[in-house]
Amino acid sequence: MSGGVLVLGGTAEARQLAAALDDARLPVVSSLAGRVSKPRLPAGAVRIGGFGGPAALAQWLVEHKIVAVVDATHPFAARISASATEACASAQIPLLRLERPGWNEQPEDCWHWVDDVPAAADLVPRLGRRAFLTTGRQGLAAFASLHSVWFLIRCVDPPASPLPPQHELLLARGPYTLSGELALIDDHALDLIVTKNSGGPDTEAKLDAARLRGLPVVVVRRPPRADGIVAVDAADAFDWVLSVVD
Ligand code: NAP
Repeated sequence: MSGGVLVLGGTAEARQLAAALDDARLPVVSSLAGRVSKPRLPAGAVRIGGFGGPAALAQWLVEHKIVAVVDATHPFAARISASATEACASAQIPLLRLERPGWNEQPEDCWHWVDDVPAAADLVPRLGRRAFLTTGRQGLAAFASLHSVWFLIRCVDPPASPLPPQHELLLARGPYTLSGELALIDDHALDLIVTKNSGGPDTEAKLDAARLRGLPVVVVRRPPRADGIVAVDAADAFDWVLSVVD
């Protein structure tokens, strides 16, 4: 193997893959956007910050002799994924998308599916008065004009955008437990949960808690993605890397 593997990260799966590649002594560099103040760092080399668009990413790949790219970014990080697709096509470097499966609605659930965060904000006042807002720091401005709803807003770092007038901010990072999520619902008398369909076990407990308490959930659908090879976990992605770097 002449060069390394680039893992576009910011997720638990990306860290698992970087650890597996590093353990196997395959050169790996993980890339983080630099959005959170204290990111969990993966094993192996790490670079932080945007590349400057698809053409700059393609150039970076060639300059760093990257032999394979795994896009293991969050299901809602659509721009970097589109950039990776374009850059890998132009630099003729194999690309794998590592994407955890989404969550599935159970028969007892009361989920309301919407296409994006602004659509979730439109729906909230019709469904609840005390909402648990877990869509992350980006996009919170869509809720800023909702005067009739009180929000418990949970995110990793303090948001920079305008927030709704009635809110409490909870800075926290998963994984979250069922007992913890039930306590938040009960202590704050929450009657609605708002989430992206991020998938994965770390933030799933809120959905179990909503089911137990009979609360409705507004679920934002994942953005569409380009066709390509997809792995659903780090072990599959590791096998793909071995198959292309041999
Ligand atoms: P995005 O909208 O797809 O990306 C915006 C820009 O940020 C990209 O065009 C790229 O800049 C840069 N970027 C994003 N991810 C990068 C990475 N891993 N390495 C280098 N540059 C990156 O992404 P986002 O939704 O802001 O998410 C940013 C990061 O946070 C992602 O890496 C993602 O895995 C993680 N994350 C996102 C969410 C979420 O809900 N969106 C949740 C948890 C974690 P250039 O065009 O300049 O290259």
